[in-house]
Amino acid sequence: MHVLLVEDDRMLASGIAAALSQTGYTVEVAGTAEQGLRLARAGAFNIGILDLGLPDRDGLVLLRDIRDDGMIFPILILSARDALNDRIRGLDTGADDYLVKPFALSELEARLRALLRRGEESTAWRHVGELRFDAAGKCALLRGEPLELTARELSILEGLMHRVGKTVSKQALFDAVFPYETDVGPNALEVHVSRLRHKLKAAGVTIRAVRGLGYRIDEQAADG
Ligand code: CA
Repeated sequence: MHVLLVEDDRMLASGIAAALSQTGYTVEVAGTAEQGLRLARAGAFNIGILDLGLPDRDGLVLLRDIRDDGMIFPILILSARDALNDRIRGLDTGADDYLVKPFALSELEARLRALLRRGEESTAWRHVGELRFDAAGKCALLRGEPLELTARELSILEGLMHRVGKTVSKQALFDAVFPYETDVGPNALEVHVSRLRHKLKAAGVTIRAVRGLGYRIDEQAADG
């Protein structure tokens, strides 16, 4: 599970990141709204944790930017503001939950689990071309028939299907595909991507390499 954590309080950010890493999450931390948006656009996140009081911009502005960009991963807001109006504003802007500081890490973890469960139910199926991907059941169907994919190909597809038509960074895919391995060569990801690309040809789906940035899954153009 890939977590985007936008929090400018370094102590708090590293405490949360350490706790979540221990539970098996991969956490990317941003200290400003601008950095948070950059990470969000470059990665394939399953969930976001967003502080409202950021040095460069209000966290709600970042939240709106993320939603305007079409990113739908669940987002939990962290804030010292506990006024009812602030909570309502956060939820109206597209947040999925709200936690008031100070909080117990165990409560944060429980809320993340609940959001992830909910997210899997509501966004279970994703389509591109004639391919359907079931995020909850971790399987891909081509015209209704199960597509045989290796675990690594499935991880790549999952990362790409979260952001159809948008670039997913190589690093994010690499982390998803090789989460516990440190001695994997730089070409390993490309090998799996090219095998997956081959298997998806019949679905009218392409995986494009975006030079220097990552990969993008798209419906194949009619003429190509
Ligand atoms: Ca803050």
